[in-house]
Amino acid sequence: MANKSIILLPMLLLVSVAVMCLSEGAIVSESSSDEGIQRALSSLAAGRYKEAERIASRVAASTGEDAAWRSWLIVATARHRLEKYPQAAEAYKQFLSLCRNPSERAYVMEQINRCRLARDKSARPVVVSELLSAKQRAKLSTVDNRKFTESSEHFVVRSHNSELAKLIVKQAEIALRRICRVILAGQDYPHSVSIYVWPNVAQYRKHAVSAPEWSGGGFSLRYDKNGQLVRRIDLTQLGKDGLFDTNMLDRILPHEMCHLVLAEFFGDAPCPLALNEGLAMMAEASVDNSRVLLAGTAMLGDSKIPLRKLLMTERCNAENAAVFYAESFSLTAYLHKRMTPGQFREMLTHIKTGCPLEEAIQRALYVPIDETFGKRLSTAWEAEALRQWQFLNALN
Ligand SMILES: [Zn+2]
Repeated sequence: MANKSIILLPMLLLVSVAVMCLSEGAIVSESSSDEGIQRALSSLAAGRYKEAERIASRVAASTGEDAAWRSWLIVATARHRLEKYPQAAEAYKQFLSLCRNPSERAYVMEQINRCRLARDKSARPVVVSELLSAKQRAKLSTVDNRKFTESSEHFVVRSHNSELAKLIVKQAEIALRRICRVILAGQDYPHSVSIYVWPNVAQYRKHAVSAPEWSGGGFSLRYDKNGQLVRRIDLTQLGKDGLFDTNMLDRILPHEMCHLVLAEFFGDAPCPLALNEGLAMMAEASVDNSRVLLAGTAMLGDSKIPLRKLLMTERCNAENAAVFYAESFSLTAYLHKRMTPGQFREMLTHIKTGCPLEEAIQRALYVPIDETFGKRLSTAWEAEALRQWQFLNALN
């Protein structure tokens, strides 16, 4: 939600933009850029931020410096109110490059700082189910005969519960932002995804495009008969107890969404299953400590899956699935913590071009390719998994 200061603070500057346009318009015949700025300001004042951004961007791109600085401020303010923080910061910087007035520059630099803080805050995962009251959970457990649809920038959600459709569309945007900006370190996702929430497992299995036996959610990426790529996530509203399944909201939705984003990012490139699952688990709203404990326990006993074998695993079976997932999460979180966002993104890009994980890491770190790297990585990661295990045990 946009905070009040974002809405009030730019008004002085924007009023000066408006006055300038009016006075110029009164003296000389109104130019098309002035007319554009006036229309953008009207849209902004009426809360039509996307329209304001579109009009002002057009003016900024097609006009001289004098009108461009005013346009960039409108673009930045509209994006800020749309909570598109990195894009708003970019527009504020465009404004700064054209503005020499010290007080206006100070104001805009403060806005850039606010964008950075808001972006960091929005990237923090929220376990939304913990915020729901018993009454809200009961409401989310009802199934209507009708289907309700809610839309946002990236999602169209269909559910038999209107409140749930609203909640999912909001949480889906938050999860996507976190996956793209934090976990994948700046991935763009200019696409639309259909999310279907089926009332129960039977309905989910009947309708979902891809519904593994054991799952309550899945994703699919397929071409329709017109050659259009269709991105879709299927979820289940109620658990076995007939009540709203909070796990779907906190874990399954972000997990499957991360798989969907990765499927498109990697395409046919062979991304290790361990990394793919590790990233999807990192997208979930909170760390599952049982995975951290299991990864540490595995390191100490016979059930350990060594790094090389972990990276070669293409499918896990019932016996080793729990350890495979626990170690996959542990390894991915370890790499994510130890590498800078830029290095992590570069590693993913190298994997996309066909590099095995160990080589992709060395390339991203700009170190010479060394045969002993895998062994050293394995030792360091196992030590970290044990440290985490000890830490959690001490807390318990
Ligand atoms: Zn998965």
